[in-house]
Amino acid sequence: MLSTQTQILRISQGQLNLLERCPRQFQHTYLENLNSPSDPEHEEKQTLGSRFHLLMQQQEMGLPIHSFLQADTQLQSWMAAFANAAPKIITPAIDHQTFRESEHYRTLQVQDYLLTVIYDLLIADNQQAQIFDWKTYPKPPNKSKLARNWQTRLYMYVLAETSEYLPENISMTYWFVQSAGKPQNIQFTYSHSLHAQTAKKLNQLLNKLTTWLENYQHGELFPQVPESSQACDYCQFAQRCDLTQVAEALINQVLPHLDTIQEVSLSEFK
Ligand code: SF4
Repeated sequence: MLSTQTQILRISQGQLNLLERCPRQFQHTYLENLNSPSDPEHEEKQTLGSRFHLLMQQQEMGLPIHSFLQADTQLQSWMAAFANAAPKIITPAIDHQTFRESEHYRTLQVQDYLLTVIYDLLIADNQQAQIFDWKTYPKPPNKSKLARNWQTRLYMYVLAETSEYLPENISMTYWFVQSAGKPQNIQFTYSHSLHAQTAKKLNQLLNKLTTWLENYQHGELFPQVPESSQACDYCQFAQRCDLTQVAEALINQVLPHLDTIQEVSLSEFK
């Protein structure tokens, strides 16, 4: 059984996003593993995206990628377009002062949580550190929405906390390789004030998670978003949530003392 007092829980940017969007959705997804089977079209896109990431990693490591490209015209056109749009990233000048690593992994402990990040590519020299992320979905999101995404906030936060770089010398760039026309990028710079804001928001969210986990062990479900929320419109758990609301109403009528209900075991996070 997972104990929130003694165990360090691993948390990713995706989990923070979900927790912020709807805590109940987080409960269903990570504590109860209730994800529905994904649709084949979505899975195919995910596989193609993963293969692009793998190719970029192989390229960075100096491994041959020609045979993979020949076997897949979609990957071939993405790589060609990206090489054209960002030649310095694909074929860097040899420079022993610069650190480059694909799939760069870092962790940072905050409270009882181990925040984990994986940068698709990290390029760092004695002045600045640049985080890169590849996206293979067609339409780049709105920049302010992307700035609020926990991937942007957490990735730069963890680098500032785990390195010597000042926030002002850290940046994060998303490359959208499948944008109509040619690959596009969205870049974010960082600062002390953004770093302080992220620290505050992160601690608030993790404090809430700790409370919700403790309550969950005593039979209380994670909070739902208001019924009118747009998050429910596309949520795979909509039906389950309706049922839960009916069940909760019944429980409240029949069993007013919820503390008599046996404790629920939590399964470990994915
Ligand atoms: S249906 Fe709404 S309240 Fe229920 S998990 Fe989904 S987003 Fe949350």
